[in-house]
Amino acid sequence: IWGRAQEELRKRIGASNFTTWIEPLRLAKIEDGQAEITCPTRFMCDWVKRHYAENILRGLKDADGTVTRLNIKVVAASAAPGKAAPRQSVPRVRKPAAPDSDLPTAPLDSRFTFENFVVGKPNELAHAAARRVADGGPVTFNPLFLYGGVGLGKTHLMHAIAREIMTRRPDQKVLYLSAEQFMYRFIQALRERQTMGFKEIFRNVDVLMVDDVQFIAGKDSTQEEFFHTFNFLIDQGKQIVISADRAPGEIKDLEDRIKSRLQSGLIVDLHPADYELRLGILQSKVDHYLTQYPGLQIAPGVLEFLAHRITSNVRVLEGALTRLYAFASLVGREITLDLTQECLADILRASDRRVSIEDIQRRVAEHYNVRFADLIGPKRVRAVARPRQVAMYLAKQLTSRSLPEIGRRFGGRDHTTIMHGVRKVEELRDNDRQLSEDLDLLSRLLQA
Ligand code: ADP
Ligand code: MG
Repeated sequence: IWGRAQEELRKRIGASNFTTWIEPLRLAKIEDGQAEITCPTRFMCDWVKRHYAENILRGLKDADGTVTRLNIKVVAASAAPGKAAPRQSVPRVRKPAAPDSDLPTAPLDSRFTFENFVVGKPNELAHAAARRVADGGPVTFNPLFLYGGVGLGKTHLMHAIAREIMTRRPDQKVLYLSAEQFMYRFIQALRERQTMGFKEIFRNVDVLMVDDVQFIAGKDSTQEEFFHTFNFLIDQGKQIVISADRAPGEIKDLEDRIKSRLQSGLIVDLHPADYELRLGILQSKVDHYLTQYPGLQIAPGVLEFLAHRITSNVRVLEGALTRLYAFASLVGREITLDLTQECLADILRASDRRVSIEDIQRRVAEHYNVRFADLIGPKRVRAVARPRQVAMYLAKQLTSRSLPEIGRRFGGRDHTTIMHGVRKVEELRDNDRQLSEDLDLLSRLLQA
């Protein structure tokens, strides 16, 4: 049936469109009048749905009268042989790094290494701390608590630490998993009356790493077990690394005793990537793509444009670039600004809608309990000046406005004043926990 339908389609849409879009599709099944077509990537799937769904359905109907509906879904091609098919969202190949132990360590993403981690001002402390723990000198920070918003590199750093320790000191038992997996294992142990076995495994490791610990907040028995495991390991001088999407003090429904234990080591946060870091990350990804898509040119200015416009998080930035390469390689065109705008229209629109400077000013004014008018007005008293600098900093970080533009929205201030404000906050935030938490909270609220 599919063969016949495909012949029809080839005639209708032309050979080159056919090869690009229809040939890679498979007919998985026909059930109750619904035909299921599978597609190797998300990007292709969207494209095919938008442009060819009707034609495909018609072709199928002609070939098999029982077909009335069509369902197109993504199914990763098995190891996509041959052709440089778009790699868009073929799931990551996750290879376990150390298959030799029977620890329930989650698979480590082979791309999440220290070498692939681009260091900039917003993440240099987190990176340095992670490195230090991975190097395992005499003084390590215990526990190391990494926190920051979505897509800022927490999991990347966790994997990098785990991998580094596993390679450098293979005798060390490293257990890395998400808090969700921790809970799942624990509940399973309870159900199977294997809690002794559970304790035995978790209390025998040299390094315990739990990602996204906010997940266990409010899950009482899991918290309890986590707390005991945690204390036991710390008392034994074992290394613990934890990540969360916010500071320990801000995690709701987390027991106080756990909070205070988490706070007893080193707490570092990852700040949203600034323009320079975004550009650096894009640049390093392009270097990788160069090997994957040799000969695919990227026009000057494209990376700057993306770094300027996509401010939300690194994951979105990466996704944009991936799509861009997939698209360009499919249509066989150089990556120009025009192509970028065409291919990423939805992402660009979404990031434009993001945060306005006025939102930022209102939130900040509210947070510090100062009047909006004072925040943008000329007052120089400290009670207003600091919140104003915070607002400037957030405006620089969360919007794609230039310094002169930001200046205009702050009552016509000069761009050097804005730059000074931004620098001031950057300088202070690393040593001022309160400020750092304020920034984290505000940017989270603004981006919600
Ligand atoms: P989080 O766990 O904080 O939500 P991830 O660690 O999953 O974020 O990062 C999201 C994506 O962004 C990953 O693909 C990661 O490799 C990438 N990424 C984040 N920060 C960096 C960085 N500094 N350098 C290179 N890649 C980064
Ligand atoms: Mg993560």
